[in-house]
Amino acid sequence: MHSTASDGTLSPEALVDLAAAQKLSAIALTDHDTVAGLPPAIAQGKKHSLEVVPGVELGIQWNGPEASGGQMHLLGYLFRADDPGLGERLSWLRDRRRERAQRIIEKLKAAGVEISFERVEAAAGGEAIGRPHVARALMEAGVVLSIGEAFGRFLSPGRPGYEDKDELTPEQAIQLIRSAGGVAVLAHPGTLKLKGAALESCVKELMGYGLAGLEAIWSSHSAEQMRELKALAEKMGLLITGGSDFHGENKPDIKLGTGRRNNVQVPDSVLDGLRIRAEARGAGAS
Ligand code: AMP
Ligand code: ZN
Repeated sequence: MHSTASDGTLSPEALVDLAAAQKLSAIALTDHDTVAGLPPAIAQGKKHSLEVVPGVELGIQWNGPEASGGQMHLLGYLFRADDPGLGERLSWLRDRRRERAQRIIEKLKAAGVEISFERVEAAAGGEAIGRPHVARALMEAGVVLSIGEAFGRFLSPGRPGYEDKDELTPEQAIQLIRSAGGVAVLAHPGTLKLKGAALESCVKELMGYGLAGLEAIWSSHSAEQMRELKALAEKMGLLITGGSDFHGENKPDIKLGTGRRNNVQVPDSVLDGLRIRAEARGAGAS
């Protein structure tokens, strides 16, 4: 799940309160390019006796099959949140995000739509600025009626306000997570838009860098995709993980813990598996 530290609309504390009210047994905060939400979330978790797993989500520079529009994201779990190497790299990524937001605003201006950087920054409110904050600023300025409309008209690839993001390669991102003691998982593999042998060979390449799991269970995967991804994870000896990818009002049809119309159920065994992998690493195994 994502908090106001990146592009969610609930604070880390409010997320934890909501998760506790829903009687979830553990949650992972996986903000984009920042771990700033973790200390307040973990502290709030203690008040409710709810385990908050350290997480982060990284965009990956990846040249998928031409014109497929595939996107790769990587999740890191159970790393040392105060690892200096991780902190530096995330800070660099956030600086690049700020510059990109400024370029997006320039492009929008050229397309006849004026919003200020201050407005976008206010929408971001925290650490990592992203397109959802630009979308919110466009909504507040009355240019669009919804976040979805902002993406559809301005912010998706091919639209007048689209800008690429500076991202790590798969190898850099996986090594970054591992060097901080964490477990690297391929986020929502459905967005790669690969199937069969092509998907398998991509996953194999990532395993070569130290990938440990596939996020088979995800709000926007179909039931069939979830089945296929679980089967692939089992075949390759990877962990199966899951998440709602809750973003609050930035993705209003996704509910915390249960996804879209209850299509997400993440068993406790997922966390057991992640922990076993993290502990094995801590003990000096690879
Ligand atoms: P960024 O990291 O700045 O590229 O923004 C990525 C975020 O925008 C992710 O949380 C996406 O899920 C979200 N996003 C991408 N496309 C859409 C869309 N059409 N509607 C709402 N959110 C979107
Ligand atoms: Zn993602």
